[in-house]
Amino acid sequence: MDSTSGGEHVRHLDTGHWLAHFAGRILVVCPSCGGRAVVVPRPGLPAPRYASELLFQPRRLACGGCGAVAGWEAEMRGGGLIGAVLRGSEDPFFRQPLWLQTRCVGRNLWAYDVEHVDALSAYIGARLRERSGLRPTMAMFARLPSWMKRSEHRADVLASLRTLRALAERSAPADRSDAAHDRSAPVDRSAAAHERDDRPRGHRNIYFRGGPY
Ligand SMILES: [Zn+2]
Repeated sequence: MDSTSGGEHVRHLDTGHWLAHFAGRILVVCPSCGGRAVVVPRPGLPAPRYASELLFQPRRLACGGCGAVAGWEAEMRGGGLIGAVLRGSEDPFFRQPLWLQTRCVGRNLWAYDVEHVDALSAYIGARLRERSGLRPTMAMFARLPSWMKRSEHRADVLASLRTLRALAERSAPADRSDAAHDRSAPVDRSAAAHERDDRPRGHRNIYFRGGPY
């Protein structure tokens, strides 16, 4: 089971990284110019102890192209902070379309940033998939839609991930992916790369003083 072929990545250990782990830096379509903007925690904040904290920390959207800047803060309600909810192909804070989107086998493949693309590539390219996560329901990889994991799609998905990696290098409004262009297009619920139903199941992330729940 542990054989290698031509040095190809053959094993992949799913450590149970939740999608939130990749939410630290999110490339989005700038709401002002349509170029590439970045969504990051507000500068000067302490590093989060848990990936889930990333959904509660104040955020900043900044565009290097046009200079647009926007802020986001978690809403306080009932003594707790209401965190951002990860959903399909838009950023969870400003609800902007993700910059890294592309069509793939009739679906929409997306990622938050290059680190996320690399992690997906490592998983999809692996021949043997293992799981060691303590919280498998939180594991991003276990929740990938089946079309991404099908062996007959592997080459297409890997090619599309290379497309996303190249897209991350570009930032002009004209470089915007067709997949990120039309917000009025019908949403294929099964197309989201990470959530089978693209929508949270009626819950919001709530962070109380003392730790994440
Ligand atoms: Zn801009």
